[in-house]
Amino acid sequence: MSSSLALAPDRRAATATRPIDIAVSCIKNGKIGRGTIQTRLPEFAAGKTWFEAGPLRQHAPAAVADCQEIVARCAPWLVCFIGPELWTKTKDNEDLTEYSDSRQMPDGGLAVRILGQAYFGRDTIFVSISKHSHPGVLSTLHHEIWHALEKFLTPGALAAVDSLAAGGRARPSEYLSSLSERRARLYQNLAASWDEGAMIRLADADLAMRAMWHVYSGGLAKDVIAARARAASPPNRGIFRRLFGF
Ligand SMILES: [Zn+2]
Repeated sequence: MSSSLALAPDRRAATATRPIDIAVSCIKNGKIGRGTIQTRLPEFAAGKTWFEAGPLRQHAPAAVADCQEIVARCAPWLVCFIGPELWTKTKDNEDLTEYSDSRQMPDGGLAVRILGQAYFGRDTIFVSISKHSHPGVLSTLHHEIWHALEKFLTPGALAAVDSLAAGGRARPSEYLSSLSERRARLYQNLAASWDEGAMIRLADADLAMRAMWHVYSGGLAKDVIAARARAASPPNRGIFRRLFGF
């Protein structure tokens, strides 16, 4: 449905070695910048994921400022790109075509329009601001933040969240039915309700709810930053690398 605004596939291929000229906002080190996606991000350079021109909501200042506040609280080290239409081409998402716009690419692959993506291993997330209402952008942001942060939770906390998420509504899609996606959706919906003022009584909360609140409140971010500071001190470097993988 956005194909009239899309880069022609051959032009996209031709631009693969230089910045892709789609304006985005970027939250980095707590500051908001504007620019274009750089091809030094391998995901974009390979043409696997890309932003496309769409309804020009990408510079909506209030929405971007709200995203900035959430990133700063929950995961200040994350780099968060906020741009127009976000598309991805991957076999894993093939069964998303029931839920999202999709189109056949000239190379035979299938592309689906997605709301956001967490780029594991590089502490980078992408959020599409097109076709979202304002709270919808924040809900997607919470979803991607969860993907980026769940690796820092203890196995017990993660298992507790799994036991809740596994009881959720069945989805006719392998991707959407995965526990990873179920956890992220459960968290995103709770976080959105907390954004709207819903309260949690921590004294009564079980491990799963306390773990998700720990992410939302920024407590986990503080833990991670403190652990990284301790890991950076030379005597501890090896121990923390084994425990946390960084
Ligand atoms: Zn997800």
